[in-house]
Amino acid sequence: MALKIKFRALLTLCGDPIENGELIIDDGKIVEISTQPANKKNSDALDLSDCLLMPGFVNAHCHLSLTALEKKISPSLSFEDWIRALIASNSALDDESRMQGIHVGAKEMKLSGVTALGDYVAEPGLLEVIGGLGFRSVLFLETIGFHSGKARFLCEKVEEILKSEFSLCRLGLAPHAPYSVSPDLFRYLGQLAQKYHCPLSCHVAEIQNEVRFLDGGNDSLEKLLKERSAWDSQWSPPGKTPIQYLDSLGLLDRLIAVHCNFVSADLDVMALKKVSAVFCPGSTQWFDRKQFMPVRALLDSGVTVALGTDSLASNDSLNFLDELRTADKLLPDVSRGEILAMATRSGGEALGLQCGTLTSGQQADLIGFRVPPSYRGSWLDVPFECHRHEVDFYMVDGKLTSYGDSLH
Ligand SMILES: [Zn+2]
Repeated sequence: MALKIKFRALLTLCGDPIENGELIIDDGKIVEISTQPANKKNSDALDLSDCLLMPGFVNAHCHLSLTALEKKISPSLSFEDWIRALIASNSALDDESRMQGIHVGAKEMKLSGVTALGDYVAEPGLLEVIGGLGFRSVLFLETIGFHSGKARFLCEKVEEILKSEFSLCRLGLAPHAPYSVSPDLFRYLGQLAQKYHCPLSCHVAEIQNEVRFLDGGNDSLEKLLKERSAWDSQWSPPGKTPIQYLDSLGLLDRLIAVHCNFVSADLDVMALKKVSAVFCPGSTQWFDRKQFMPVRALLDSGVTVALGTDSLASNDSLNFLDELRTADKLLPDVSRGEILAMATRSGGEALGLQCGTLTSGQQADLIGFRVPPSYRGSWLDVPFECHRHEVDFYMVDGKLTSYGDSLH
């Protein structure tokens, strides 16, 4: 049976705000959006006439399985020492803490309005757990392996998972980063992505040392790989930027590139190859990055830019409303309307999910914010208000979930 929802205002994310209307949902999809006189009687509608509704947020990059590492790692370390600390803390984590962390992280995201996510999953045993959390999601199989001799074996393991009957959500592939994945492994995973029509994501150009490593001018990442017995003596620096390097390996088409702090020279090729960039505001702030993603220039070049929280190993919170406010602070030349689009429509586009806008035929993933009757400000400002830490209404696939029930 169709569900009608009365609203005070609606952000469709593909047009002007609509005021005093009604949304009709059937079989998990939006069937119709109509405007009506504000006081018209409509007894069978869910009355959210005190709410602003908008598409649920899309967290385009996270690692839910690292949530239990909250406050375990210092932000003052060098990036290489941060990786060392991350590996040590992560391997010391027991299964129960990890599992508890996944649920705590999921709850924080839901309370703050995340309805869809792209999560990196390094441990295949966690796919069922994370896929069953109730988000619309793409789970990226995170793969690390710098030694070319291991590329074929690692790729076969990944293909076994892709061939399995995993039906809870879409699977994607995530070679971890240019300094942790061999050229052969990149190529094989790129081929697998094409064969299985999987979205492909990678951490790209996160630090200056990654750029120098690929240019042959830095050995701190080489030292780290040697410590881990992961160095490949056959490897030689390609002398390219991270983006050029991935392009040369056939990885760039429609890549979901996370961080992109050093890509200013590569804007045209990113637009041409339809790369989506994921900006992680909380992580950028946590590391106190002096140079970070050129979001304005990417948007002006026509590149899709989405938002992500990354993990609590490099962020203080998975609250997506905090991410919006941090993005607003870090990006003075990007409007709030553009930030909201990054948090919704662009995330859906990047992940290839049918969500992020509210139009007829689209999936009914939506959130709501209660606003006082006297409110006369811009609807675009509401999600950024500093007192908001939770949404007041939450729906995925036309259904109020257990977290949603407690919200409204
Ligand atoms: Zn990440």
